Amino acid sequence: MASIGTMTCARCAHTFPGAIGNTMYGVRLRCLECDAERLVPWSLLSPPGSLRAPAEDHRVACDRCGRLSLRAGLRPRCPQCGSRDTDMTSVDIVAD
Ligand SMILES: [Zn+2]
Ligand SMILES: [Zn+2]
Repeated sequence: MASIGTMTCARCAHTFPGAIGNTMYGVRLRCLECDAERLVPWSLLSPPGSLRAPAEDHRVACDRCGRLSLRAGLRPRCPQCGSRDTDMTSVDIVAD
């Protein structure tokens, strides 16, 4: 299940729009380097449907910076201070 809403940074209290969680179509990966998001189909994971290390197993590169730094389960990074200590504080849309 994926949620789209407002994220709040625990470090600097900046708020920004963000999305967290996975969808029925795939797992949401984020880039450790540039924080770009990419949705990777569940069938590409190893084993299929698991949340374990899809980036390493399948060498999925980031669309934006080209590095193999996509990871599952990362929080969106605060655009103001760069912290990943962020939480969704209001939810606008919940989707499967
Ligand atoms: Zn990147
Ligand atoms: Zn911040």
